Amino acid sequence: MNNIKEIQPLLKASKSPKVVITTHHKPDADALGSSLGLLNYLLKIGIQANVVTPTDYGDFLKWMPGESAVINFEEKEKYSQSLVEEADIIFCLDFNALKRINKLGVLVAQSKAIKVLIDHHLEPEGFEQFRLWTTKASSTCELIFWLIELMGDVSAIDEDIASCLYAGIMTDTASFKHGSTTATTHRVAATLLEKGAKSNRIFEAIYDNYSESRTRFIGFCLSEKLQILPEYHTALITVTAEDLKKFKIITGDSEGLVNYGLSITGIKLSVLIIDRTVARKMSFRSKDSFPANEFARKYFNGGGHFNAAGGESLEPIDQVEIKFKAALNEYKNYLN
Ligand code: 5GP
Ligand code: MN
Repeated sequence: MNNIKEIQPLLKASKSPKVVITTHHKPDADALGSSLGLLNYLLKIGIQANVVTPTDYGDFLKWMPGESAVINFEEKEKYSQSLVEEADIIFCLDFNALKRINKLGVLVAQSKAIKVLIDHHLEPEGFEQFRLWTTKASSTCELIFWLIELMGDVSAIDEDIASCLYAGIMTDTASFKHGSTTATTHRVAATLLEKGAKSNRIFEAIYDNYSESRTRFIGFCLSEKLQILPEYHTALITVTAEDLKKFKIITGDSEGLVNYGLSITGIKLSVLIIDRTVARKMSFRSKDSFPANEFARKYFNGGGHFNAAGGESLEPIDQVEIKFKAALNEYKNYLN
C-alpha cells in the first residue's frame, strides 16, 4: 500500500487528472457528505471530478451543495460507465468491499484508474492502491477533513465543503453521542463551524424533514410491529412489502427506525428486517459486547461496525425471521 500523501502530486499534476468519486449503495449523510465535500474541495482547487452513486438516496440529503451534479448509476448507466472507464483516479468513500457498490463495483475493478480508499469500516478487502483508513475515525467526513489537512489546504474549506462534512460527522456519531466521537472529532467539527457550516440548519434539514406518512409509518412499526424477545434482550421489527406500500415508503424513510429498539431499557440488540424488492435488508444495532458485524457476516452476508451493522438475505421474509431467531440462540451468551 502506498502512502496517502503521495496522491498529492498525482492530483496536482500539471495535466489535471480525471477524477471519479463513488460511495456505497443507498448513500447516507456520511457517504454523500464525504463525496460532495471532496467534490467541492477538488473543484475549488481546479480539479475536474464527478460523483457517481450506485443508487438513489433520500430527499433529506438533497440540500447538500453540489448534489444536483451527482450521477446515479441506475439512471445513467452508460454515462457512469464512460466516466469510470476514462477516470485517472477513483475515490471510494465510506465502503471497503466492491460488492457494496453493486454493478458499479465490476466497472471499478476493471478500470485502470488509481483507486483511493477513504473509509472507517472494518476489514477492507484491499482493491485500492492508496488508503486513508482507520476504524478510529468517527466518519468518512472526518477523514476527508484529515485528507484536506494533509494536503495543506484547510484554508480552501468554505461553507459548502464545511456543510457537507459537518453533516456526515453529525449523523455518523448520532449527534456526537457515539463512542467514536473523539476530541479530534470535536476539533474538526469546530473548524467546520468556523468555516461557515450552520449546525442548526444542517440538523433541521436532515432530522426535521420527514413526510407525514413516514412519521405515521414509524408509529405503526413501534405499536404494531415491534417484538421484544426478553430472553435475548432483543428488539425486532419486521417490515413487509405490504407495509412499505401502505405508507408509501421511499428511500431514506426507514433510516433511524432500528435505533428505537435500542432505546428500551435492558435491550442489547435491535434488529430491523425490511422486505425490499430484490432482497430482505437487515440492520443490526447493539450495545456492549454483542458483535453486530460478526453476526451479520456469519448469518446474513453482511458486515459493518462492531455495534452497527447490516446484511441481507434472498429468502422470504418469514424465513429470514425464523433464521434470525435461531441464530440468536447461538449468540445468547453475548446477550445475557
Ligand atoms: P445500516 O443498518 O444503516 O444500513 O448499516 C449499518 C452499517 O452496516 C453501515 O456501517 C454499513 O456500512 C454496514 N452495512 C449495512 N449493510 C451491509 C451489507 O450488506 N454488507 C456489509 N458488509 N456492510 C453493511
Ligand atoms: Mn460512515
